[in-house]
Formats: sequence, structure tokens, C-alpha cells
Amino acid sequence: MKAILFHTHGGPEVLEYRDFPTPEPGPGQVLVKLKAAALNRLDIWVRRGLPGIKLEYPHIPGADGAGEVVALGEGITRWSVGDHVVINPNLSCGQCEYCLAGDDNRCRSWQLLGETVRGTYAEYIALPEGNFLALPAGFDELTAAAAALVYQTAWHSLITRGSLRPGETVLVVGASGGVSVASIQIAKLAGATVCVIASGPEKAALAESLGAYAVIDRSKDEAWPRTVYNLTDKRGVDVVVDNVGTTFPQSFRAARKGGRILTVGNTGGPKFEIDNRLIFGKHLSIIGSTMAPKRDFAAVMELVFAGKLKPVLDRTYPLSEARLAQERLEKGEQLGKITLCTR
Ligand code: ZN
Repeated sequence: MKAILFHTHGGPEVLEYRDFPTPEPGPGQVLVKLKAAALNRLDIWVRRGLPGIKLEYPHIPGADGAGEVVALGEGITRWSVGDHVVINPNLSCGQCEYCLAGDDNRCRSWQLLGETVRGTYAEYIALPEGNFLALPAGFDELTAAAAALVYQTAWHSLITRGSLRPGETVLVVGASGGVSVASIQIAKLAGATVCVIASGPEKAALAESLGAYAVIDRSKDEAWPRTVYNLTDKRGVDVVVDNVGTTFPQSFRAARKGGRILTVGNTGGPKFEIDNRLIFGKHLSIIGSTMAPKRDFAAVMELVFAGKLKPVLDRTYPLSEARLAQERLEKGEQLGKITLCTR
């Protein structure tokens, strides 16, 4: 099969479009011919090298994908050849205390597809049968692949971990990334009022098109926590979605007393200074999570399949041009999800 692979960490130039042996489905596994893959920031970090993570080279990036079942390993009863599926990229053992409690994204031997295990920038992939959901007839594979990682991440953070309730105010810091778009849509669907901190006119326009109540362009308004404060009658917001990280000091200021700060990542960098007085003085809760358990994945994808949550698709590149796709993501030029077409 054709795949995008790399033999060493580095810039986009380490990505090669090459032949690689097509995987065989082992016992309990399903072989899928991928039609779509989607990019995540994770792909860039894995390519550059993450502390503590050792890869088996050549590595194939990619957590998100969708396609068609083409072969079944031993003991598969759940799937048939010809089924159309989307991938759940959480790889878990199914036996540890977390898995048995239904918290498989906290599995003691949790792995993420494309991070430590060869991923979806390829024509075929073999995965355990529990790592797929069936697509409704005719559902677009690019849309499904674009939704899988970011919508489960945003859903688990806002709904399960963040206990978002109708009528609450939510501030989303960031507008253009996949998790931000998903967070805006999920918060709106949950009945919250959503404010967005965007950077630049195009990203502000995207947030407005998604139904944000107020959009603040931080390239024009550096004192945005004060603007948020004034917008909420000097109260602050109930929930801040901050996946930038370096903006935590401002997010603490924008939150109300007793507010929740939700985080699933740090696009601005992992280390930064915070003023602890704001955390205890304002009774803030900082709630972290990564990915989602299977039940949340199924719940949010049902809403995607029903059209109630709609991923915003940026450009689609052929698999062979994954390098250009990653360059676009790395420059932050995208509005929504960048996808790869592997059909
Ligand atoms: Zn486990």
C-alpha cells in the first residue's frame, strides 16, 4: 500500500510518500481501506518529537480516519466486508480498572493511534473491532474522519467533565482549530451562550458563522478579559474552554467566581506562569481531560451523523501531499479541519 511515513523527527520534509506492507488483520481485528484521514496538531508534535515517546520507525502519522471494511480477522462477528466505518483512535486494554469502569480513555496502557502506533496516513489500517463505529448509509467519510478526535474531545471536556448546563455562559479561547469549532457547536447545542476569543478577522468571521453570541478579536483587543467581564455584567463567564494554555492568566480573569476552566491541550506551549491567588481567591476549578471514553464517542458521533454537529472542513489534500497539508496546519492558516483523501 501507499503511506506517508518518516524515519526521523524533524520538519515537514521528513514525511515521505512510499510503499509500505499492507497490514494483515490479526485475531479480533478488522482491515479497513481508508478513504479519508484528518490532520490533528498531535501529528505535528509526533513528527517533531514528543518527550518520552519512542517510535518504531518508520512511523505513519494520523489518528483520524474513515473507510470501508475489506477483510476480517479471526473471530469477528460485529462487522462485515463492505461496512463503512469511522475510527475511534483510543487504544485501550479492555481489562484494567479504568477500562472495566467504562473510562477507557484513562486505560493504564492507553495509546493513541498515530502517536505511538502507526496511524491513518495510509491506504489501509488494521485495528481491533471495538475501535470502529458504523457510518450511516452515504455519510461522507471526510466529514466523519474530521469529526472523530475533536468532537469526542470537546464533548467529554464540556459535557462529561465540565457538566455544562443550559443557560450557562461559555468562553472559547481560540476559534479556528477543530476542538474550538467543536466546542462552540457543542456548547450551543447544550443551550449555553458562547463567547469566542478569535485571532484575526477570518477566524472571527468563522466564530460568528457558528452562532457565537460575541466574538472578540484578540489581535485588536489585548485586554479581552476586561471586555468579557463587561459583557457579562461584571460577573465573568461560567466556563472557559482554554486549549491554548499560555492564555490561562487571562482565562482566570475572565471566569466568574466558582468558574470552571476546561483544558484538553496547549497549542500555545505547555509551560507558563500562573497567579495561584486567582485560583483560590476566585474558587476556580481547572478540569483537564484527554480524548473520551467509548460511550462519549458514540454519543457525540450520533449527533454528527444526525447533522446536529457539523465539522467545518478546510482544504482536502491527496494522501501524497500530506506534507503540504501539515505545512498549512503548522502555519495556522486553516479554518476548520484539514483532511487527506486516500481513495
Ligand atoms: Zn485498560
